[in-house]
Amino acid sequence: CGIIGILGKASVTGGLVEALSRLEYRGYDSAGIAVVKGGKLERRRAVGKLAALRDVLAADPLEGNAGIGHTRWATHGEPTEVNAHPHMTHKAALVHNGIIENFRELRDELTAAGVTFEGQTDTEVVVRLFTRYLDGGLPAEQAFAATLERLEGAFALAVLVDGEEDLLLGARRGSPLVVGLGDGEVFLGSDALALAGLSSRLIYLEEGDWVIAKRGSLKTFDESGKPVERPIAISHLTG
Ligand code: GLU
Repeated sequence: CGIIGILGKASVTGGLVEALSRLEYRGYDSAGIAVVKGGKLERRRAVGKLAALRDVLAADPLEGNAGIGHTRWATHGEPTEVNAHPHMTHKAALVHNGIIENFRELRDELTAAGVTFEGQTDTEVVVRLFTRYLDGGLPAEQAFAATLERLEGAFALAVLVDGEEDLLLGARRGSPLVVGLGDGEVFLGSDALALAGLSSRLIYLEEGDWVIAKRGSLKTFDESGKPVERPIAISHLTG
């Protein structure tokens, strides 16, 4: 339902939760964040309001300069902690808005190949498919392109890769996704409000676009994988 991604200069945990609080108006049943810290992915999730996630973070803090966050409005799978985003493997953490229409087929295919699933969401197939491509030796950019090719439905995605503190992947198909450019920082949000106070230079991705974001560079591709340039808009929203 709500997506935020940040490659920051300092710990992003507070910024992730703050951005999720700006997205609360959309409604949600659970929330979570993941960061890359010391090269390793870590996450915290909680059912209920952001206060529940804040409590989890107070008891078990999470710090890292690269992170993603999500507020979930369950469509497939009960609103439980296991089904809350980010969904994570040993290689990647991922948040998703929307619905993956062909998730059953992908899940069956992955299960037949020996992949095990933790929850019941449509989303989990995406991170497990991406992980399979990474495990097969594809670099993150190609693994992401290969994953997107297999997906049907409406989605916005933000993805972190284990071991990569300067890499944030995003994709938009049927659900909006906005890139925010900062000074040595880069952001992804499901709408401009998520990025209010974080970035005023925004790129509204077009249908089918996907991005490879680093702190110092942004590569944008269209649905066919062709590199494209999208205009930068100035936002006047403040945090
Ligand atoms: N379909 C996904 C799920 O149920 C994402 C829902 C959302 O957009 O929050 O987990």
